[in-house]
Amino acid sequence: MSFLQLRGVEKFFGEHRAIKGVNLDVEKNEFIVFVGPSGCGKSTLLRMIAGLESIDGGSLHVDGKDITHLPSSQRELAMVFQSYALYPHMTVFDNMSFALKLAKVPVDEIKQKVERAAETLNLTPYLKRTPKELSGGQRQRVAIGRAIVRAPKIFLFDEPLSNLDAALRGQTRVEIHKLHRALGVTTIYVTHDQVEAMTLADRVVVLRDGAIEQVGAPLELYDKPANQFVAQFIGMPSMNIVKAAQLSQFGTLAGQAAGRVPADGLIGVRPEGVRVLPVGHAGVPGKVELIEALGADTLIHVDVMGTSMISRQAERTHLRIGDPVALEFDLDTLHCFDHAGRTVSL
Ligand code: ATP
Repeated sequence: MSFLQLRGVEKFFGEHRAIKGVNLDVEKNEFIVFVGPSGCGKSTLLRMIAGLESIDGGSLHVDGKDITHLPSSQRELAMVFQSYALYPHMTVFDNMSFALKLAKVPVDEIKQKVERAAETLNLTPYLKRTPKELSGGQRQRVAIGRAIVRAPKIFLFDEPLSNLDAALRGQTRVEIHKLHRALGVTTIYVTHDQVEAMTLADRVVVLRDGAIEQVGAPLELYDKPANQFVAQFIGMPSMNIVKAAQLSQFGTLAGQAAGRVPADGLIGVRPEGVRVLPVGHAGVPGKVELIEALGADTLIHVDVMGTSMISRQAERTHLRIGDPVALEFDLDTLHCFDHAGRTVSL
């Protein structure tokens, strides 16, 4: 049996079936990230594992033990919240040691555990401060420290970085990554952020409408999405989609896909597989709609007879909005889907 096992897990909020028979196996030491659009059930599923929401059907096993209906306090799991959930009037030391005190761990052992965690998280200078005397990033590290000292079987993170600004987010993400490499504790992490999902996860679980669409290593999802939903959800900007019925306007793309994609299907090309060439080159004619210069790369939005295509390129551009251009496609990045959005292998 896997370390964490979900079987046919169900959740109802009144009539609403928020989690629909989820099956998932997580191995010991794995870092699993739940992603999906707002309302898909990521947080609910995480909270069900934590014991903060009841499980209305199916089963949950951790380390061989059925904990489906076990109270949260007895699950030996630790959750880190977006809002930190620190005790405002307690010092960092007291916040981190609180659970151990409740568990009547000897004082010396508490001190040792908290000091070790503080060192790992670069919090040693702040142990005597209260949360309001800390930055957002430091507070989140205290929340993580509080989870570490309990030596849980599983860490559960619910969007832990979403209250931080972009720079701090990146920094804390790297710290969480290093921490996982150092401690190797099995982790389940919920996020909206693609970069967090792609960089932290051993495997990503893509959820939609209370059900799992696909589970796989980040690049596996990127290269071999099971369907259009995953293809468009993973990758920024999103994969370009063209209806097979419009393919005649897409020159070489049409040639490559001909006979492989059903007439009512769709063709997908990642933005990095679209090259924008000055007019006069061979290619599919289009017109520049918008240019987004991100520094390291440039996004060029091109209108092809009413269909908007995005190109991502490493070079800067001299093009301007309204310029006529020619598009070339890297046919290696081509994806085909049937009418129901399922991937059709090429
Ligand atoms: P977000 O990314 O916006 O946080 P999420 O994927 O985490 O979304 P959940 O918060 O798990 O989504 O919610 C899943 C569904 O269950 C949503 O339709 C939500 O409205 C509903 N839901 C969540 N909690 C409750 C509740 N306590 N009572 C009723 N419905 C709820």
